[in-house]
Amino acid sequence: MTRPAEYIRRYYGVPAKKGMQITAQDEHGKRRPAVIVGFKNQYLRARFEGEQRIVTLHATWEITYPEVPNPVPARGWCNWCTRERALRADGTVHWHPFPSPQDTCRGAGQPPTHRVDYRIRYDQDEAA
Ligand SMILES: [Zn+2]
Repeated sequence: MTRPAEYIRRYYGVPAKKGMQITAQDEHGKRRPAVIVGFKNQYLRARFEGEQRIVTLHATWEITYPEVPNPVPARGWCNWCTRERALRADGTVHWHPFPSPQDTCRGAGQPPTHRVDYRIRYDQDEAA
């Protein structure tokens, strides 16, 4: 199962993360600062600065994300378990367990579906 935040990052190639400051377009077409408070399917849940209500925004519609540097070491999306994983020097996916901690994921040693081109830690997203 892929969680919404992870799906958005993989599918749209954006660095969306809970708590991240973004610039988004409000319902009046005005671009304003907002903060990501959660995720739902392919949508961001966000709060515009100075407001209490939470709005639903498409992950790529008129949204500016902050600049995030490339990951070191490189990371990519595993073709088998569809999770973001570390890559080896040869560009293939590093060993990782899947589906249980005792198993070796069948995507290890294979090329990733694509590389991750941002660097950020997402630990607290997973409950979103
Ligand atoms: Zn995998």
